Amino acid sequence: MPTPLIAGNWKMNGSRALVEEFAQAFRDADLSPGVEVALMVPFPYLEAAGRAFAGTPVALGAQTLSDQPAGAFTGEVSGEMLDDCGARLVLVGHSERRTLFGEDDAAVLARVKAALAVGLTPVLCLGETLEERDDGRTEAVVLGQLEAVFDALAPDERGRLVIAYEPVWAIGTGRTATPEQAQAVHAAIRERLGRYGDALAAGMQVLYGGSMKAANAAELLAQPDIDGGLVGGASLKVDEFLAICQSAG
Ligand code: PEP
Repeated sequence: MPTPLIAGNWKMNGSRALVEEFAQAFRDADLSPGVEVALMVPFPYLEAAGRAFAGTPVALGAQTLSDQPAGAFTGEVSGEMLDDCGARLVLVGHSERRTLFGEDDAAVLARVKAALAVGLTPVLCLGETLEERDDGRTEAVVLGQLEAVFDALAPDERGRLVIAYEPVWAIGTGRTATPEQAQAVHAAIRERLGRYGDALAAGMQVLYGGSMKAANAAELLAQPDIDGGLVGGASLKVDEFLAICQSAG
């Protein structure tokens, strides 16, 4: 069974004060050592968060990265810079990046490779829109996004990813997938991962994301193929996020 991972995605929210508030709370928290925790903070707070989270169980993450290692790409941030600031994980293919910033499967793959090249763990986000679900295309879309990356990676690279299934219609909407809906897609993802090896499929952390909160986390996390959560809005409230982390242990 993969170790549960609860990852918070602050998106374009937060402040230095919030970083300090989280660091204090996690320093004092009584968390099960069997749960991994990460926070994906905005770029400007990475350094401060890296210092503040030292000595807490919180691993540092970023929300995106450039597909290029360095050079004349104004406004971009490379994987090496994230690593230099202490980040261990980075989101890739979040639906907001796919829809608002036009990142298609090729762009997602390039960013996964850029993350792996510097030793960061890419958290690969997959998910269908409501229209795609209503058309009965959920598995085709999600597994297509998965294969677009996994087919192109070397066998020894595949085991270095984390996957997050995030139905687009559940992100930031307050509308959560039911545990049964989520489990069905997670099971399909794990089955498809089996094509790349049974051990890979069994060991892969597959997170659920989409309006996860303290009130619904336990029943989602109780599903056999849900190995944690990617939490947006609820990761901005320290008590709420801690409660989610506690329900994973
Ligand atoms: C997300 O941004 O990855 C997310 C799941 O957001 P929310 O929890 O707010 O739906």
